[in-house]
Amino acid sequence: MEETEFFCPTCNEDTEHEILKESPGKLLVKCLECGSIHNITREPEPREIRVKAIISIERDSMKGTIELTEDERISVGDLLVAETEDGESLGVEVSSIEIDDKRVGNAQASDIGTIWARVVDRVILKVSYHDGRATIPLYVEYGGEDDIVIGETYRSGQYRYKVTHIKLRNGAMMRKEGWKAYARKIKRVYGTKAVY
Ligand SMILES: [Zn+2]
Repeated sequence: MEETEFFCPTCNEDTEHEILKESPGKLLVKCLECGSIHNITREPEPREIRVKAIISIERDSMKGTIELTEDERISVGDLLVAETEDGESLGVEVSSIEIDDKRVGNAQASDIGTIWARVVDRVILKVSYHDGRATIPLYVEYGGEDDIVIGETYRSGQYRYKVTHIKLRNGAMMRKEGWKAYARKIKRVYGTKAVY
């Protein structure tokens, strides 16, 4: 099924579109909300992979996985989200990276055998921030139990973004104003430039 949700510059949000014409790296699309026709540049999405993780909590450790994009570079000290075998998501800090029985300080995700991590209460949230012309990826640190609320405005450095929707780690998409989720449960936050 072709992805048909794109950012509409007229509606100033992600809407359903009809694809009128497809050419390499480019799509001509029509917004089904307002009818405006515009071009979308489409870059190939990096593949998502699951890396094996050994997660330590205090004196215990358990098995889990960490979802990463294959071209992502991971370093000791990075804050990530791990999923345990029973489906719980936890904020973790990378304590060691193993490739072919060797421990390294950093590596590309696709090369990693196992990530050793410890549970922390901070996570890095991926935010797709759209300023009306382009999407800028932001990485914002939150407490794992911090609420992210649709419709509210947040700040990251020079950017102020209003959350328009939230994609959860379980695949569900939340769009309703006022709905919220814990930062550690979120796969990606979508925001547009906050206007006053
Ligand atoms: Zn539109």
